[in-house]
Amino acid sequence: MASALQGWRVEWCEFIFDLRFGFSNGGNEERIYWESQISQPIERKPACWYDGRVSYTYTYLVPLNPEPKRTEYIRRVTDFLLRKQIVGELESVLGQKGFFGVGDSALEPFNAREDWEPGFHSCVIFIYPRITIVPEDPTPLEPRCPDCLADVSQPLNKLYCPDEETQLEQIDFGGAKVTCPECRGSFRPDELRDERGEGIFLTDRYVCFTDAGDFRPEWLAEFSEAAGTPHRVVSYYYT
Ligand SMILES: [Zn+2]
Repeated sequence: MASALQGWRVEWCEFIFDLRFGFSNGGNEERIYWESQISQPIERKPACWYDGRVSYTYTYLVPLNPEPKRTEYIRRVTDFLLRKQIVGELESVLGQKGFFGVGDSALEPFNAREDWEPGFHSCVIFIYPRITIVPEDPTPLEPRCPDCLADVSQPLNKLYCPDEETQLEQIDFGGAKVTCPECRGSFRPDELRDERGEGIFLTDRYVCFTDAGDFRPEWLAEFSEAAGTPHRVVSYYYT
């Protein structure tokens, strides 16, 4: 299945206004869709620019325990997020399993703020039967060799994007290694240092919210109890 998501990001007065469009080709049916959303108010001058992929933060909830296994984990978190109306079905967007929009109670997981209403834009539950990498886009990383601290961006980017056709969810990172160009040491991606501090993780399960607010500890505890495992919360900023 080929899919694409592109958009314009428009800042106007005190708001960022997202206009997204894209297409998906699931089976024989080609769909074209668009969506729009007012994001957070900001203090900037009016501006408009092409953003390619319109997302500002990706916040991952990565399970810390090996149990429950993938299928059971997906079942539990999907059930919880839909039942609590945190997420809503969003079949018109991408037509892709595991991809959700906001539900009626989408503000529930987040600390209240005075300056803007915290929520999220979309939610992805990783559904593919393989080990994947967090974050799913290496742009905010500054990966370094854990032994000699050399920059290993290039060999890491090659793992993310081995060729023009391969999509990230098709790649199994289970045996992936990065070779340091300086000391020739060989490391798993999650053994690398990330100078920006967020880190790199390998997992076969995660839930990712885009443009999310700050999660309330009480909500995270409830989510983790329903999922059957505590989670690491890690955010990556794309600016
Ligand atoms: Zn090295």
